[in-house]
Amino acid sequence: MPIGTDDHPLRVAIIGSGPTGFYTAEHLFKQKDYVVEVDVYDRLPTPFGLVRGGVAPDHQKIKSVARAYDRVAKDPRFRYFGYVEFGTDVKLDDLQKHYHQIVFTVGAQIDRSMGIPGEDLARSHAATEFVAWYNGHPDYRDRKFDLSQETVVVVGVGNVAVDVCRILCRSREALERTDITNDALEAIVNSNVKTVYMLGRRGPAQAAFSNPEIKELGELAITDIQVPERDASIGDATKAFMAENPDKSTDRKLEIIQQYAEEKRSGKPKSLVLRFCISPVELIAGEDGGVAKVKLVKNELYLNERGTIRPRATEEFEEIEAGLVFRSVGYYGVALPGVPFRKDWGVIPNEKGRVLVHESGPDAPVPGLYCAGWIKRGPSGVIGTNKPDALETVQCMLEDIEGGKHLSPEAPSRDAARDLVRERKPNYFSYADWQELDELEVKKAEGTQRPRVKFTSIEEMLAALDRS
Ligand code: NAP
Repeated sequence: MPIGTDDHPLRVAIIGSGPTGFYTAEHLFKQKDYVVEVDVYDRLPTPFGLVRGGVAPDHQKIKSVARAYDRVAKDPRFRYFGYVEFGTDVKLDDLQKHYHQIVFTVGAQIDRSMGIPGEDLARSHAATEFVAWYNGHPDYRDRKFDLSQETVVVVGVGNVAVDVCRILCRSREALERTDITNDALEAIVNSNVKTVYMLGRRGPAQAAFSNPEIKELGELAITDIQVPERDASIGDATKAFMAENPDKSTDRKLEIIQQYAEEKRSGKPKSLVLRFCISPVELIAGEDGGVAKVKLVKNELYLNERGTIRPRATEEFEEIEAGLVFRSVGYYGVALPGVPFRKDWGVIPNEKGRVLVHESGPDAPVPGLYCAGWIKRGPSGVIGTNKPDALETVQCMLEDIEGGKHLSPEAPSRDAARDLVRERKPNYFSYADWQELDELEVKKAEGTQRPRVKFTSIEEMLAALDRS
């Protein structure tokens, strides 16, 4: 029986309602060959993944990409099953009974560790947890961060590290125009934090942050940015690499950082200090058992056999007195029940989005299972990077339908899938429920400069919609 017709629509489940989940649905709706029905599942009542819980609250323009996802959700072929967790509320074998194809777009949910002594001390945290806390993610709303400390160290120089530093260094006036949670706003503006260090293990030319992000750090109302002259300079290995691989964006990045190194402090109450070619080797406890100092080693850079500039520790050590540490050295994917996983890479093993399983012979595709976004390629790129990534996966899905390679669900109907969800999670959130919640959040912010005041616990969300 052909699939993708009016009588037998192609039924697809997407697990994860972040940007990649929406781009996957959008690409499926744009193709013209098959009649398709898409159900998007998320373990939270609220959709949009990192756009809601990761993108910094003072970057509302980036968050406005959610309007494009609203347009996807308006399509009558789209349904949302929020507050339904894959692996507990619905399992892989449940979904295999209702869909021809299942796509995992769950992102990368945990942080990487630095692997140094003292990393587990009190007041040493993953930046991802701090980000989720100030963005009001229900799993992190009760986290406590000791902002009575005067000096904070942020390890890593990616865009997440920049976000954390910037939020710590923002004024009340700036934060009051964002949708940061009230608790985080008060905690940050009333904090004792005076100096924030951001540490890069390689040099300024290799820093992972993008140029608009680093430029923004120089424009903060209450914080001066500083870069020690020595840290801003580039060594012979980098000079040779740049001569071989000219890149305008790197030139501009160096220009911005050099300018920071030359500028004098203007006397603002807070300082943000960018350091390069330096790695933490130990977090040292104080008398109360929490972090009190960070021991650092100076690195030299060299060109390795793969043609990449790498750091190598020297014998030169120093210590920074700091009572709070955030490691921001990348995200990491989490295994899903019943789904193949590459623990060493933190991704689902796949070829162009087709999930692979490793049995006795060469890796083989698992019929009907796909992935896209960070759980497919790792935590890299900006939100828009996930659009072509999702397209590659959707193209494989369509090829496989054409080739008859898909799941054979027993009950492939919209009503049967909805009945399953209703039975397992009577309190699930439809897209209309989310839109009601969305309106209530915006309403809560009336009379303030804030774009919305978020519900940060699932109980509050349920109560707001008069659910038990
Ligand atoms: P990232 O861009 O991969 O940066 C990770 C940083 O951690 C790098 O500086 C890396 O240095 C460093 N690092 C890794 N292991 C380390 C170690 N053991 N010791 C010290 N430093 C270490 O990751 P991210 O900042 O988590 O961001 C994830 C993705 O989201 C990125 O693609 C980012 O651009 C994107 N994002 C974008 C925005 C935005 O557009 N505004 C905002 C947030 C995030 P090396 O380079 O030396 O490995």
